[in-house]
Amino acid sequence: MYDVIIVGLGCAGYTAAIYTARYKLSTLIVGGEEGGTGMAAAEVGDWPGEIHTTGPDLMQKFKEHALSFEEVEHKNARVEKVEKTDSGFRATFQSGETAEAKAVILATGTKHRKLGVPGEKEFSGKGVTYCATCDAYFYKGKNVAVVGGGDSAVEGAAIAAQVANKVYLIHRRNEFRASPYWVDRVKARDNVEFVLENAVVEILGNTVVTGVRLEKEFNGSDAIDLQGVFIEIGADADTLLAEQLHCELDDRGHVKVDAGMRTSTEGVFAAGDLSSGSNHFAQFTTAAGEGSIAANSLFHYLEG
Ligand code: NAP
Repeated sequence: MYDVIIVGLGCAGYTAAIYTARYKLSTLIVGGEEGGTGMAAAEVGDWPGEIHTTGPDLMQKFKEHALSFEEVEHKNARVEKVEKTDSGFRATFQSGETAEAKAVILATGTKHRKLGVPGEKEFSGKGVTYCATCDAYFYKGKNVAVVGGGDSAVEGAAIAAQVANKVYLIHRRNEFRASPYWVDRVKARDNVEFVLENAVVEILGNTVVTGVRLEKEFNGSDAIDLQGVFIEIGADADTLLAEQLHCELDDRGHVKVDAGMRTSTEGVFAAGDLSSGSNHFAQFTTAAGEGSIAANSLFHYLEG
């Protein structure tokens, strides 16, 4: 029986583990993908104390920091189920193994949103990907499209433009949700073409992607020939485990938390991108803040 099981190996989860360890709580931190969505950040310039770093570097440091405590046990395993027991909670992993704890912190982050157009599923992994910054390198010298207008899409377009021959940034409005920093970076590139107030209605290909069909004509055609499509239209909170535990969700589908990152289910805390906290401002800094608050509340909860 651990004091706490933290589900999620991202920024919020590792930060929570650092804090639970310092509260001397026996901690199991477990998840399917190390680093979480932070791994997609090719450049990080807003982590205080590091003028320039990358998501993978930052997440590696978080992991090392968390694992430097003897109270923390780390497990790479997808958690399929979490349920309430008489003495606390039981997590079941994909392998069928289980672990129990007195309390739980959910830091399961988000899942990529899908466009839902013909060809998307068929060419997934064959030119269609959901992380421009992770996969851009494979499209060196090629023509690609990035779909979306938030930070993920615009940062993705900026990173892709460093290696690709040409990047089409396709966005349904003519204004960007992304921070001006990334918009300016993209505008400064002469190999990025903006396709605004338009939408991808089909992804074309044979065995791999060969192009996209647009809702409206662009430069005299409703199709663009290209080899890669990065779909970066946001993400939905991964609330599978939270729902198993009957945690209430907010109107955006995030796990509702109070200022102490407590969910509506006693003994269950949520931190990071899946939570309704930090005014839905999904950043490394806010995820880390939420992870530390969740650990603090959990400590007081166990103290009774
Ligand atoms: P986001 O901010 O929700 O933006 C999603 C974008 O996709 C929006 O521009 C939206 O258009 C568009 N979109 C949504 N559904 C669409 C659809 N069905 N078809 C076409 N376009 C669609 O998502 P995100 O960019 O992944 O960012 C998520 C969070 O992570 C944000 O809080 C962001 O600040 C943060 N983040 C931060 C950084 C950073 O600071 N470096 C990097 C990545 C992500 P509309 O604008 O018209 O709604």
